Amino acid sequence: MAKLYFRYGSMGSSKTANALMVAYNYQEKGQHALLAKPALDNRDGDGVMASRIGLSRPCISVEQLTDMTDDAIRAYDCVIVDEAQFCTKEQVDKLTDIVDRLEVPVICYGLRTDFQRNLFEGSLWLMAWADIIEEVKTVCWCGRAATCVARFDESGEMVTEGSQVQLGGNDSYTSVCRRHHKLGIIRKPRG
Ligand SMILES: [Zn+2]
Repeated sequence: MAKLYFRYGSMGSSKTANALMVAYNYQEKGQHALLAKPALDNRDGDGVMASRIGLSRPCISVEQLTDMTDDAIRAYDCVIVDEAQFCTKEQVDKLTDIVDRLEVPVICYGLRTDFQRNLFEGSLWLMAWADIIEEVKTVCWCGRAATCVARFDESGEMVTEGSQVQLGGNDSYTSVCRRHHKLGIIRKPRG
């Protein structure tokens, strides 16, 4: 049976590299994975899924995915969605249809929470509806599991106010444990 997967992680947990590896594994077996991400996430340029370690592949938008015909989607062995936190509730619902009606597995990667520790819309509904929920782990500077996203400004200070989505590169986000998120200490103190 096809399943809906949600693999969540914080910033820097190699979610995109993981997604591209899964696509490559399908390809090695002579199968085809369809890659998609929400149009909102255009920091890598439209139509490209790019990881920080340099891997990249072309992809379509989730909007294009949900406009595809049933037969066109069934031609693939798997659908992989990156940055799935930016999906709307309606889009996540459509992903469940791809699994349930078309019997094509859908593997979603995304952040669980934003820089204020609030759920993203897409993550909320994936948490609610996914068959399999798995954590892609990364660590805080202190060695604890980094479950929180911290946004920082040009001076390197943690930011706690602002809009949920402020696209423009990974350089203004990092991952820390919940304790250090609460304390606002996003790097190992010197000395
Ligand atoms: Zn920590």
